[in-house]
Amino acid sequence: MYRHLWSNGPKEALEFAEYTFDEHFGRPISSYPPRAVLWDYINGRAEKSGVKQFVRFSTIVRWVDFDESSQKFTLTVEDLKSGTTETSEFDQVIVGSGHFSFPNVPDFEGIETFPGQLLHAHDFRGAEGLADKDVLLIGASYSAEDIGVQTFKMGARSVTMSYRSAPMGFDWPEGMEELPLVERFEGSTAHFSNGESRRFDAVVLCTGYLHHYPFLPSHLALSSPNNLYPDTLYRGVVSEANNKLFYLGSQDQWFTFNMFDAQAW
Ligand code: NAP
Repeated sequence: MYRHLWSNGPKEALEFAEYTFDEHFGRPISSYPPRAVLWDYINGRAEKSGVKQFVRFSTIVRWVDFDESSQKFTLTVEDLKSGTTETSEFDQVIVGSGHFSFPNVPDFEGIETFPGQLLHAHDFRGAEGLADKDVLLIGASYSAEDIGVQTFKMGARSVTMSYRSAPMGFDWPEGMEELPLVERFEGSTAHFSNGESRRFDAVVLCTGYLHHYPFLPSHLALSSPNNLYPDTLYRGVVSEANNKLFYLGSQDQWFTFNMFDAQAW
C-alpha cells in the first residue's frame, strides 16, 4: 500500500449494494479514488453496520486445528498488546486473510551481485527515492504497470519492465520500455533473454504474491496459484479438505468488494 496508490478499478464497479458512495460522501466523487478515500468508504460501512463490536482488534491468530472427534476447531490467538495467548473452540472457521501480502520472490542468477536498491512491490512505499535513476521492474501485471508509471512520473531517468509470459504492450512514452525476462545479473548490469543488456540503479520485483496461511496445518491451508478458481474450493468458498472451513476472497480479483460480499452472503 504505497503512498500514491489510487484504485486501478472504477469505484462504480466496487460499490457495496447497501451502502452507496453517494450515501457515504454526500456528493459525487471521481471514479478512481486514492486509497485513503476508499479506506474511508469501507470504514464508513463498518461503522454504520456496527460490525466492529464483533471484531477483536490487535489480536493475531497463531494456530488453528480441527479435532475429528469433537468436530470443532481450536484457535490459539495472541493479544498483541498484552502479549498473552489464549485458546477457544469454534464450530466453523472462515479464512479471510487475503492472498496479496506474502511476496513471491523468485531467484535470478547473480542477483546477489546487484549493488543497488532491490525490493519487492510489497515493500514499495513511494517513488521519490527513484528520481534520476534507471529502474528495472520484473513482472508484467498491475504492480509493474502502476509502480512503473508512477516511478516514471516522479522523475526516474528510465523505466524498464521485464516480462516472463507476455508484454503489457501499451504505447509507453519515451523512457519506458518492455523487455523479455532477465536471465542473469552481473553487478549492476541485467542481461535479458533476447541478448540485450542494460545498467540499472534499482530493481523492483513486481512478481506477485503467494497463498500463505502460517496459522493452518498444511492439509487445511489452501495451496493454489493466483487464479480465478482455486482447485480445492467447492464453489470457490468451501474447503474440500473440511467443509466447516471456508475461504473468502482467495481468487484473483476484479470486482473485489462485491465478490467478498457475495461470498460472505
Ligand atoms: P499479479 O497480478 O499476480 O502479477 C504477478 C506478475 O509477476 C505476473 O506478470 C507474473 O508473470 C510475474 N511473475 C511471477 N513470477 C515470476 C518470475 N519468476 N519471473 C518473472 N515474472 C514473474 O501481482 P500484482 O501485479 O502484484 O497484483 C496483485 C494485486 O494487487 C492485483 O489484485 C492488483 O489489482 C492489485 N494492485 C492494485 C493496484 C492499484 O489498485 N493501483 C496496483 C498494484 C496492484 P506471468 O504473467 O508470467 O505469470
